[in-house]
This record gives sequence, C-alpha cells and structure tokens, in this order.
Amino acid sequence: MAAKSFDIIVIGAGPGGYVAAIRAAQLGKSVAIVERENLGGICLNWGCIPTKALLRSAEVFHLMHRAKEFGLTADKIGFDLDAVVKRSRKVAGQLSGGIGHLMKKNKITVVMGSAKLAGKGKVTVTTEKGSEELSAPNIILATGARARELPGLEADGDLVWTYRHALQPKRMPKKLLVIGSGAIGIEFASFFNTLGADVTVVEVLDRILPVEDAEISAFAKKQFEKQGMKIMEKSMVKKLDRAAPKVTAHIERGGKIEQHEFDTVISAVGIVANTEGLGLEELGAKIDRSFVVTDEYCRTGVDGLFVIGDATNGPWLAHKASHEGVMVAELIAGGHPHAVDPANIAGCTYCHPQVASVGLTEAKAKEAGYSVKVGRFPFIGNGKAIALGEPEGMIKTVFDAKTGELLGAHMVGAEVTELIQGYVVGRQLETTEEDLMNTVFPHPTLSEMMHESVLDAYGRAIHF
Ligand SMILES: Cc1cc2nc3c(=O)[nH]c(=O)nc-3n(C[C@H](O)[C@H](O)[C@H](O)COP(=O)(O)OP(=O)(O)OC[C@H]3O[C@@H](n4cnc5c(N)ncnc54)[C@H](O)[C@@H]3O)c2cc1C
Repeated sequence: MAAKSFDIIVIGAGPGGYVAAIRAAQLGKSVAIVERENLGGICLNWGCIPTKALLRSAEVFHLMHRAKEFGLTADKIGFDLDAVVKRSRKVAGQLSGGIGHLMKKNKITVVMGSAKLAGKGKVTVTTEKGSEELSAPNIILATGARARELPGLEADGDLVWTYRHALQPKRMPKKLLVIGSGAIGIEFASFFNTLGADVTVVEVLDRILPVEDAEISAFAKKQFEKQGMKIMEKSMVKKLDRAAPKVTAHIERGGKIEQHEFDTVISAVGIVANTEGLGLEELGAKIDRSFVVTDEYCRTGVDGLFVIGDATNGPWLAHKASHEGVMVAELIAGGHPHAVDPANIAGCTYCHPQVASVGLTEAKAKEAGYSVKVGRFPFIGNGKAIALGEPEGMIKTVFDAKTGELLGAHMVGAEVTELIQGYVVGRQLETTEEDLMNTVFPHPTLSEMMHESVLDAYGRAIHF
C-alpha cells in the first residue's frame, strides 16, 4: 500500500508533539501525529496534571486541619485515597480528551500506534490493525521519556513504585522511602506526608532540590522537617531487600551502611528518553545517554528530522517541550523563530511550600564570573501572606552588580509557582533592577514581595 503523505509527521502526542502539530496546522501544513498510548503524553496523563490534582487534595486536607485557625470548624476530617486518585484520573482523562478535540479542530490526522523511522522522511506505524506507512519531508520526534530505573532498585509496582504506580496507589503507604529529591520525588513526598505517611527522602547530593538555589533548598528542608519528613542528604540507597510487606533499604551515609525498614519505596531518580529502537542512529542522529543530541533549534543534523521535549536536552519540562514544538513548526514553515533559551525556562515544584525559580542561582552566577547583588524578602513581611495564613517563605533575586541585569530569581512559599512568571517575563525582556523597581505591584498581593526582593538587593526594601 502506498504511504500516506503529509507535510509533517509528529511522533508522540505529549505537550511537545501535540503543540508542534497544532502550530504546524495553524501555519497551513498537513500534519499526522502518531501516539502509542494517550494523547497528552506523560504530562497530561502521568505527570504534571494528575500530580497537581493529587497535591490539591492534600492541600485542602491540610487546610481543613487548620480550620480552627481561620475561625472555622471541620470535624471528622479524613480522606478516601481511592476517591482522591479517582479525581486525579478524571482530571487527566478530561484533558487528554480535550487534546483529541484540538486535533480534530485543527484537522490533524491522529494515528494510534507505535512509530518507527523507516528511512529519511518515512515512518512505519504498528497499529492494532497491522502496520501503516507514512511519509513527510519533515519529522518531529517527541517521544518523551520514562522513569529511570537503577539496578537493584527497580520498581515492582507492589513494594517499589515509579511515578506511574504512585499516581494510582492501591494502598496508603505508612512508612515511605522516596529515593531522589528532584521535583518528582519531592512532590510525592509532600503528598503522602501531608496525608499522614511517615516519609523519608534520601538524596545522594549534599542537599534536597539540588538544582535550586542553596538557600531555597535549605529553607524547604526546614519546612519539610517541621512537617515531620525525614531528610537524608549525602546518602545513597545501595540495596533494597524486599520481603512483603516490608522493604529493608541499605542506605550509605557518612561511610557507613544503615538499614531502615519501609512498607513502600518510590524511586524518583531521573528519566531515560524513549529513543531506542526508533531507527534514529540508522539515519545518522547522535544519542548521548538516551537523549538525542540536537542544536538550539532542535535539529539533529539529519535533514528534516527534529527532536523536541524530553527526548532531547533538558530542562525536561512540559513548557520547554511545547515551546520547542512551536519553534520547530515555525522553522519548518520558513519562519525565523528565536531558539529556546534554557536560562529563561522556569522550574516549579508543587510541594508544600511550593518552590519556583528561573535563571542562575547565586552560586552559579558567581561561578560564571558575575559580581552579584542579592535581594531577599521573607513572606512574614507581606500583608497578603499573613492574611492567607502563609507566613513561611522567601523570595530571592540575583542581579549582575555591574549592569543591573536580573540573573535569577528563586522562591519558596505559597503560590510561588504562579508568581515566578513575572520574573520570567522580566528575563525575556532583559529587564534590569531599575525597570523592576519602577514597576508598580498591586496591593495586597504576594507579588509585592517580588518588588521588595529587588529593592532589598539595592538596600531599599520598605517592609523589612
Ligand atoms: C510525575 C511527573 C510530574 C511532572 N510534573 C511536571 C510539572 O509539574 N511541570 C512540568 O513542566 N513538567 C512536569 N513533568 C515533566 C513533563 O511531564 C515532561 O517534561 C513532558 O511530558 C515532556 O513532554 P514530551 O512531549 O517531550 O513527552 P511526553 O509527555 O513524554 O510524551 C511523549 C509521547 O510519545 C509517545 N511515544 C513514545 N514513543 C512512541 C512511539 N515510538 N510511537 C508513538 N508514540 C510514542 C508516548 O506514549 C507519549 O505519549 C512531570 C513528569 C512526571 C513524570
């Protein structure tokens, strides 16, 4: 059978792939998108969205316990884990269904099946009904990633979980070990800790949330410990002895091996790109530790083959994947888009308290040779934070002392994942301290702390 031909074939319908497909269709291209599991990819189905739905349940639960503080009564506070998970799955399902409508609206051909590159401009899709051949001069590969598994710490879905198991737990962990303190590990630690599990987080590096500014990591750690979490830094899980219903973790700390018992382990030690067996190397693409090597325009060096999102360079975040999708679609359509700048991609962790950042940490800025001016502002100095009952947190800003350029912003506290975008816009516009100081922030808002942090960097903070 002759191959069905399109202008662009997108492989993978996560936030990278489906956004690329929509933008390409908007630009008048005929587009096919191939997906082997769920429209919306990991983000909508097994990542960003269902975790936020779970965390929202945990947040409401936490607030219910604080009802008295707000002059309210709430008796017999409890939770039904199945119902919490059901809500999270419903939210994911609703959004995945929405992507189906968007594909239809934009006249994008959706092929459900597993794709493989079958030569330049050719894709073979294995579907339930057999196989299908597609062809296009341009292919955008957006096959995403999956949980990384370390030898001996592999998930079994019963005692040891990946994020997929943790998103639909069949039981509530009583004593939980979370291996890895990046965003995924910390979000699950926060969720189960708030619901009452006894949670230990083990991090091999010297601090939790290791990509964040050191002060923010330290602040978050203090808060988590106040909430009862145990944090083991500079520690490595060497082995798990599984004897249901218990797991004994052998944890190396300070040169000694300690043994700790848990009933559940969540392994959150990073991701591996879904790039094997796709015919990438055969076409001449290079792969570095599972991730396809690309330039700043997501080009692979193979004519007409682009790779975006989690399958290529980090940061491995949904909004970065989507933005790359738009950029590549515009590039193929003959436009001149700007390359995505990783330094302007915010990272958010939706634990309690939330953490968010963009740009350089203070340490990285110094390492890069900048002489810096640093501002800080605590939530306790902000009227809205106190009115909300959220006085714990801080906002830190890092400026180039010479030029006043905003190099980085780092936040911990309530709603900072919403606030950070203000600084992202600032960085995109190459803002300086003066622009930010001259900006009027509405009162009373948490955003006023963003102003105060800038003022503090120049010794002018008003409320602290
Ligand atoms: C628990 C968790 C929480 C997260 N939270 C956040 C968050 O809050 N914010 C954030 O920005 N990021 C978050 N992420 C990361 C985010 O999910 C990813 O960065 C994002 O999904 C990457 O998008 P993508 O399009 O590159 O790939 P994916 O979303 O992984 O989509 C790839 C798609 O390709 C399909 N596919 C793979 N191979 C083939 C093939 N051969 N043929 C056909 N289809 C194929 C897959 O089935 C999948 O649907 C989270 C991740 C996890 C695991």
